[in-house]
Amino acid sequence: MASHTDRTTDRTLDRTTDQRSDLATGRGKRFVERTYRLRIVGLSLGFLCVASVFLGQQRGIALWSLAVFHGFIWAHVARRAALACVVPYRGERLNLMIDSLFGGFWIVAMQFNVLPSVLILVMLSMDNIAAGGPRLFVRGVAAHVAGVALGALVLGIRFNPMSSMATIVACLPLLTIYPVSLGWSMYRLSQKLAARTSDLEHLSRTDGLTKLWNRRHWEGQLSLEFERCRANGYASCLLLIDLDHFKRVNDTLGHPAGDAVLVAFADLLRGHFRAGDSIGRYGGEEFGVVLPGATLRETQTITRALLVRVREQAREPDASCPCTISAGIAQLMPDMPDYHTWLLEADRSLYQAKAQGRDRIIVAGAAAPAQPVASAKS
Ligand code: GH3
Ligand code: MG
Ligand code: MG
Repeated sequence: MASHTDRTTDRTLDRTTDQRSDLATGRGKRFVERTYRLRIVGLSLGFLCVASVFLGQQRGIALWSLAVFHGFIWAHVARRAALACVVPYRGERLNLMIDSLFGGFWIVAMQFNVLPSVLILVMLSMDNIAAGGPRLFVRGVAAHVAGVALGALVLGIRFNPMSSMATIVACLPLLTIYPVSLGWSMYRLSQKLAARTSDLEHLSRTDGLTKLWNRRHWEGQLSLEFERCRANGYASCLLLIDLDHFKRVNDTLGHPAGDAVLVAFADLLRGHFRAGDSIGRYGGEEFGVVLPGATLRETQTITRALLVRVREQAREPDASCPCTISAGIAQLMPDMPDYHTWLLEADRSLYQAKAQGRDRIIVAGAAAPAQPVASAKS
């Protein structure tokens, strides 16, 4: 009897495999479409080269038909075939090998006419290396050799390497237009990649729920600010804020409502602080703010205003954030060896604010116990 755990593991593995193949499918489809557009351009221009040689050689209907098929029909067949594969990416790599095989065949069919032969080899190799790096390039060379062997078998080997002026002219479009098209396609790809990388970087820095900086990135900002202050000798303050009795929100209204409160509070923080201040979600319902260049007095003023604002909002019926807050402030001091010490000072102050009854601010190093900030009514 398969255990429940086994079945769960199987399902998880299935899902992972599905996700992987979905990824491969998505990537493959875009690759197929990109190659399809390039293939249409490359093969129709390549047809001109082959046709110019064939005209001089009085080739028969069979070779002409094959050249027309490869030049104008194959690109569409290849696209359909690749998209019909389970992993289109693999199908498309096979298509590239078929292109290379054709290339070798055309070289024999053109009796090694030097300019179009070299041009076709170079263009196909460029495609292979752009699509699959050195490995696909080497495979492509093997496919070229196979194509030459096939051509020799079917047509026999004949050497006629001189390129006429007509052939030289017929090769010019492939020589000029195709590399530009490939370059353009690669440029667009690199632009998309850069945009995606930047999106991913942003995602890796932000907290999924509140869209504030996540703890890792926020601590990085804190560390940078520490170094900057050290180098330039200006004042900076750090603030840690924790929602009071937040667990009650979860317990009474449910976890999704708790999430909504965290989002509402994050929005409030974003609106309250300056654009240059760095706000992060430090833990579950704990937030950190780095205030670059802010004096202790300025930080106390802005934090008091926040505390009063949150308290007043919490009193309203259907408040989006029904909690008060406790906060610990620490000013960067010259004797602090690293940013961890700065953070620890703020954390200690926050702990004291909790211990002294919550809904208050404690400043690190302040001699007297902090008085609660007067409520709006008092
Ligand atoms: P205190 O005033 O001492 O800070 O009390 P508290 O209830 O706010 O703090 P406590 O540490 O006891 O509980 C924090 C709660 O926050 C417990 C945890 O389930 C909840 N929490 C943490 N992260 C999230 C979250 O992302 N969403 C929700 N809804 N709740 C969270
Ligand atoms: Mg709390
Ligand atoms: Mg907490």
